[in-house]
Amino acid sequence: MTTESELLLKINQGIPPDLQRRYHELIARRRVESLSEDEYGELLRLTDQVEAIEVQRVEYLAELARLFKKLFTDVMKDLGFEHRRMPEKRVTARQKRAVIEHAHDCCEYCRSQAQFAVESFFVEHIVPAIRGGKIELDNLALSCQGCNNHRYTKIEGRDPATGELTPLYHPRRQPWQEHFAWNDDYTLIIGLTATGRATVAALQLNRENLIRLRWVLYAMGQHPPAEVDEP
Ligand SMILES: [Zn+2]
Repeated sequence: MTTESELLLKINQGIPPDLQRRYHELIARRRVESLSEDEYGELLRLTDQVEAIEVQRVEYLAELARLFKKLFTDVMKDLGFEHRRMPEKRVTARQKRAVIEHAHDCCEYCRSQAQFAVESFFVEHIVPAIRGGKIELDNLALSCQGCNNHRYTKIEGRDPATGELTPLYHPRRQPWQEHFAWNDDYTLIIGLTATGRATVAALQLNRENLIRLRWVLYAMGQHPPAEVDEP
């Protein structure tokens, strides 16, 4: 049986410094130059590791909540977990606020909630700057680090059903519910349209860690998040 102090220790361990340093280095470089294929592969592997740590932490928190017979969110509050967001220098504070508010603090692709993430969410360009995307509200969305890393500079992807190249989901112009739905136990996102299916595939919206996270949070009554607002 795991004791309370062991759980607390594990929860506070976070991401190993070496991993975190390399991860942030690749993310920072990715914003200003293109990564080699090897480096991009490394970034996706690190993304997977970071997300695994994230889920693990939520699992420990859930265990702690059961141990204390307290609400999961109360345990989080007691431990001082705050919403994490990465400061985005080029986007104004006002734009950032508007995007976060509209997104209700959820990734606008995989619907993960910022409050359960160890890595900051941030306001991203839907159409990347190198493809002519501007810094205006119509082109800004809240994204978890994982979805953003998987998307990279892609704006289109193949619909697995037809093999055809299709524009990826645009959170500011398309309602989420029109393109995606949850499966019965809310662990999987199903693409309803060509764009939905291409986006699920390109951004890997059903990453193994996300499935685990959804499962734990669903059991704690914290998933799925509220419906998203229409664009
Ligand atoms: Zn996401």
